[in-house]
Amino acid sequence: MFIHIDIDSFFASAERSVDPALKGIPMAVGGRSNLEIFNRRRTNIRLMNDNSGAFVTPVFYSDREKSFDSFFVDKIDGKRKIRGIVTTASYEARARGVKTAMPIAQALQLCPQLIVVPSHYLLYHRLSHDIQRFLQTKIPQLEQYSIDEFFGDLSGWIADTDVMAFSKRLQQELLERFDIPVSIGISRSKWIAKVATDSAKPFGVYEVKDIDDFIQKMPIEEFPGIGRGFQRRLGQYGISRLGEIKARKALFYSWKRPGIQLYHRVTGTDNEPISKKSDRKSIGISRTFDGLRDPDELRRRIMIMARHIVYIALSIDANPTTYYLKIDYEYGVKVKQSRSVDRFFSESLFKAELAQMYDEIAQPGAAALKLSLSVSNFTGNNLKTLSLLHLEEDQRRLRLTRDLHSLREQFGLDIIKSGSEL
Ligand SMILES: [Mg+2]
Repeated sequence: MFIHIDIDSFFASAERSVDPALKGIPMAVGGRSNLEIFNRRRTNIRLMNDNSGAFVTPVFYSDREKSFDSFFVDKIDGKRKIRGIVTTASYEARARGVKTAMPIAQALQLCPQLIVVPSHYLLYHRLSHDIQRFLQTKIPQLEQYSIDEFFGDLSGWIADTDVMAFSKRLQQELLERFDIPVSIGISRSKWIAKVATDSAKPFGVYEVKDIDDFIQKMPIEEFPGIGRGFQRRLGQYGISRLGEIKARKALFYSWKRPGIQLYHRVTGTDNEPISKKSDRKSIGISRTFDGLRDPDELRRRIMIMARHIVYIALSIDANPTTYYLKIDYEYGVKVKQSRSVDRFFSESLFKAELAQMYDEIAQPGAAALKLSLSVSNFTGNNLKTLSLLHLEEDQRRLRLTRDLHSLREQFGLDIIKSGSEL
């Protein structure tokens, strides 16, 4: 049997685990685009890093001391303006109409007694990591699917008839040990278990015994992986419920791989194992801002973001060989470029490649709204896959980057900046 464990309103529950006064009341965690890293006066903010599974790491700061006003309120011409959006709402807040992605100002209108807490990514990543480590001791075949979701394959480990009791015990243990409520879905198919978790929420355990019956009337948008595009396509064939998919096998097979995969996932016949690739696949960081046209300032921001990525990559001893830069401009214009190199990752190489990529894709005169950088394709420092042509130079650069890294570990990430960031 497969189980799918999903933490109930994760960020909100995490805040409650460290501040019990937040329990039982309408509360929400809010976020806003963190532009603090671009502040020229900023000094000595420590960058945290830990390895909590297969999702892109944001860059996060210990910001526990931030108050509502200092985090969410901008003073413009003497007027208070509440910025930011709801990241996660407690069930008490949801009952009053507060939803994820809703502007905080709007949420407060709907629910004036709502308590909004600034997000603390460091806390969430630590909790996620600790829970993952704990679950590994209970479930040998474990996959971390997102920051707050896990799949477990219990076959050969827990008898099918005991999975319900095992899941309830696990739920209780997580509550006692971490003060974190989870819901658990159970099914003989992985993806059906994930859908079952929604029926279990909040703080429940739900086992799907008869898959056909379970999916029969369920709207297609409830199934993971059926996005807007697929929904429209299915709508053209009069399919709005998962049960209708089962009767159209030939149609789905005519859509080749994605159709076939979806057909089997929905009908619980996919036989997909859990994925053991829990290694970090990429390191990414993005920042949004009000329209910015100045190319020098954009270049400076890219270099600052690059320094953060270099720091994380060195912290986990990764040698990424693919670099990616994307710029979102106004009017929905997006430009991006990626490059693969067969060289040692170093700060100077990464920054030089980014500078070239920027020059190639930049849209002069247009206002940029968002910058995204990431690195992937980690080779480790395996010499066989790296170019010998630049070996000596790259090793020298890498030594320099490592020296910078140890200084930054000691004194904070802002201690050394390169000329391009000033
Ligand atoms: Mg969740």
